[in-house]
Amino acid sequence: MPDQAIEIEGLKKTYRPSAKAPAKTALHGVDLQIPRGSIFGLLGPNGAGKSTMINILAGLVVKSAGTVRIWGFDQDVNPRQSRAAIGVMPQELVLDPFFTPRGALEVQAGLYGVPRAQRRTDEILDLIGLADKADAYARSLSGGMRRRLLLGKALVHSPQILVLDEPTAGVDIELRNMLWANIRKLNEERGMTIILTTHYLEEAEEMCDEIAIINHGRLITRDTTANLLQRITGKSMIVVPDGNATPGDLPPGITFETRPDGALAFHYDQRTMTAGQVLDHIRDANIRIADVRTEEVDLEQVFLALTSDTPAA
Ligand code: ADP
Ligand code: MG
Repeated sequence: MPDQAIEIEGLKKTYRPSAKAPAKTALHGVDLQIPRGSIFGLLGPNGAGKSTMINILAGLVVKSAGTVRIWGFDQDVNPRQSRAAIGVMPQELVLDPFFTPRGALEVQAGLYGVPRAQRRTDEILDLIGLADKADAYARSLSGGMRRRLLLGKALVHSPQILVLDEPTAGVDIELRNMLWANIRKLNEERGMTIILTTHYLEEAEEMCDEIAIINHGRLITRDTTANLLQRITGKSMIVVPDGNATPGDLPPGITFETRPDGALAFHYDQRTMTAGQVLDHIRDANIRIADVRTEEVDLEQVFLALTSDTPAA
């Protein structure tokens, strides 16, 4: 078995111009290796190029340049083997409304050349919680059930690598928990390598061993989840002042800005300062506090921090 489930080198994609849009380069030469057996997160904002990369892996989008090896097979040299090693749950809901879940899984298995005797249709229906809907038309299924069916379709040929493109976008908490539990199970019990894309840091944090961050078609960083979170050390304390307030001289390590709504945002690095110390400085500056809160790190700030070497605020 290969050490790397996926090896991507110099991957480029430029979409051709259309009547509606000019040419667009969605990937500018990405290098990425994804180890076998991991749960790997591809994290980035909308438009970063995540789906483009996933769809190239799936063989749905043709790359412009670079090499892609899936389970050791070069996509251009061994297209069948590389396709057989990977199952993709797409971001978009693409289902024929006239198929039943059982029918959709059988057709998909046929497309991948899985012999009837080796099909695991009932097992998959159980796994995705659709056994009792096996013979209902897809058009009568809820949105959540359709997404589960997409997961099932990605599994019919027992791929070594499962790719999920924004698996939990727009799904309710119950379905999200069920998807995550199933994904963990596939990873732990069958050693399946899982790759998921998301634009939520929390989701990547909760699910993934390692994370690659991509923005504007470029890989910004790649690290273990624990290391990445350690690098995001900035915090903000937001103070709504009671009356007009201007902070006087602040000690080094605290910067501030006035928000459009009049609130004061104090940024600090939690490696060198505690929230209590920041509050002390705010009181020393004679600011009366009507309200105070701390703010979560957001992804845009994480990107800025990781690309500029300063802590995220
Ligand atoms: P993400 O999945 O990270 O949101 P995408 O890979 O879908 O990003 O898109 C990356 C960029 O490529 C975006 O600017 C998007 O508008 C563009 N793009 C995606 N698909 C197409 C397409 N079929 N034709 C032209 N441009 C596209
Ligand atoms: Mg996408």
